[in-house]
Amino acid sequence: MLNERYLKDERTLIGEIWQSGEIYENMLIMADEIGSRFPGTASEKQAQEYMVEKLKEYGYENARAVPFNYYGWKRGPVTLEMTEPVQREFTAISLAMSPGGIVEAGVIDLGTGSPEEFEAVDPEDVKGKIVICSSATSPTGKRVHRRTKYGYAVKYGAVGFIFMNHNPGQLAPTGSLRPSYKMGGEIPGIGVSLETGLLMLRLAKGKPMKIKFTDKSQVIPDSESANIVAELPGETDEWIVVGGHYDGHDISQGAMDNLSGTTVTMELARVLKPYEGKFKRGIRFICFGCEEIGVTGSTCYVADHLDQMKNTAIMVNLELGGLSFKDGMKHAAFTVYQPPEMKEWIAGFLEEVNYPTSIRTGMSAASDHWPFVMQGVPAIYMHEEPSMRQLVQGRGWGHTTADLMDKVDPRNLQEGAMLMARVLLRLATQEKKIADHTPLKKIVKHLEKTGMSKTLEIQLKWHPDSPR
Ligand SMILES: [Zn+2]
Repeated sequence: MLNERYLKDERTLIGEIWQSGEIYENMLIMADEIGSRFPGTASEKQAQEYMVEKLKEYGYENARAVPFNYYGWKRGPVTLEMTEPVQREFTAISLAMSPGGIVEAGVIDLGTGSPEEFEAVDPEDVKGKIVICSSATSPTGKRVHRRTKYGYAVKYGAVGFIFMNHNPGQLAPTGSLRPSYKMGGEIPGIGVSLETGLLMLRLAKGKPMKIKFTDKSQVIPDSESANIVAELPGETDEWIVVGGHYDGHDISQGAMDNLSGTTVTMELARVLKPYEGKFKRGIRFICFGCEEIGVTGSTCYVADHLDQMKNTAIMVNLELGGLSFKDGMKHAAFTVYQPPEMKEWIAGFLEEVNYPTSIRTGMSAASDHWPFVMQGVPAIYMHEEPSMRQLVQGRGWGHTTADLMDKVDPRNLQEGAMLMARVLLRLATQEKKIADHTPLKKIVKHLEKTGMSKTLEIQLKWHPDSPR
């Protein structure tokens, strides 16, 4: 049963979103005209200016770029050559935050590069070698983040890192190696397509393989980027933070990841503007910078606004902005990070609005909710999974040259925005507290129990007492 209280407002909001071409227009401009928005590029600056201007046009006089410092990175060309047992050249690209350099060494194939696969070999066999591993799900069924695989390679004394895509299509993957809010990578890392990686392994025929690669990329300390913030004040000093990252990887348009979440955030800001001062809680719309190089913009934002965390009622992360596909049908998919009680809230909402749904609980450090989670802030995530028609798994087209506008369905983003507007309407107006903050002690205990603290240690992202 639809809640009568919201009926009229929801009809207005849904109609406004469905009739408007803003999401599509913003996507076209930011993807096709502006470009990747990768940290440190001209397109990043242009995108920041465009978003601030657009939000002002939507009526947000307070729309602004909030700067932060980080370790920047500039991509350089890569050459890759097998020298033993046969001589052959291949194409490869640098992985973000790779310090660059020239590496010549034997290669060790560590499968999917999971902790179990590293722990099964003698560290002496990895020392001085180049580690090759793929982005596939580990043999134990877990999806292990690239930064964990790289962390193990560094810990075991490898001198280079080759990351192979597990999806076909001759697409070399990119992705960051270290959190740019505190450091660059220690050893050079490059990405190769599935086809290239498999060819290399076939050519070696099980004999020792030697590789030489050069990477002219550079880490640039003392770089500056910015988060884009617009505020819709409420009746109290409690705030809801909603948003996603606007930066994409430099090799593509980052259309799915994450222009989709960015344009949905902007759309929500647009349609909710008439409610200024009318909701119990204010809404802070944030498009984060530098997420792709270690969740940096949101981490710096939290570090610079620690005093506001207790007034942050919830963080809603829009990493990808649309609805998901499951069993050939669109459905709303949410992840609840904390506290677990938020699951009931979402279940109640989805039942009311009558959407096919899936709700997960879990923890992940690989997106902008994370620094808020570590401050105890309740956090949820609306995720989008690709249709089976796209024949890709896991990250899919993300982090490859194929993440362009044609992979995004703007109508699906409108539906995502419609659903999220209804979520925000309820979160912003509900009389009782949304959820309790989680004490740090409890978070740390949970992360230790699940082994996630160990993973974060390997990634050099375990610093529970300080945001950055
Ligand atoms: Zn992303």
